[in-house]
Amino acid sequence: MKLVTPGERVGVIEEYEPGEGTYVVDGVIYSSRLGFVEVDKERRIVVKGKRLVGVPEVGDEVIVKTTLVQRNIVNGVIIFINGVEVDSCFVALLLLRGAQKKIFVGDLIRARVISRANGVVHVSVRGPEMGVVQTVCNHCGGKVVRYRANAVKCVECGAVEERLLSKEFGRFDLPVLKAYKRI
Ligand SMILES: [Zn+2]
Repeated sequence: MKLVTPGERVGVIEEYEPGEGTYVVDGVIYSSRLGFVEVDKERRIVVKGKRLVGVPEVGDEVIVKTTLVQRNIVNGVIIFINGVEVDSCFVALLLLRGAQKKIFVGDLIRARVISRANGVVHVSVRGPEMGVVQTVCNHCGGKVVRYRANAVKCVECGAVEERLLSKEFGRFDLPVLKAYKRI
């Protein structure tokens, strides 16, 4: 077994499937951990070892604060990884059809990391617990409550707006986020 450090080249995608503890840039597989390289039966290359704090890996659950919402793309900063607050400065990319009607800048969304190809942290909001967990009214900035499965209503001005809500919305508001561990 070979010991590798984060950022060290461990293989290429022509030969191996990238597995746990790795990421891919331009077809080259790198280690995201300090650990030992192993190849399993399915020719998947994995790095067993301690993960780095603040570095998102495939399969992680993250909270993203959105900074840019376009028609089919959402960008945001990862502020929690698996329930731990981080100053990771990693930007998450979410591809979502009709994103502009479902998510707004400043919303907090719960998502899962699905790929780290080419240095981009791709996330998905598939699954009922994923989606917007915190948002405010677009008209007045007021507090909102769930109105329908995928809509919120402002308690200040009464506006109803669409949101791609997590089933945890409301239960998963600021106090819960604060209850997450800080490192
Ligand atoms: Zn309002």
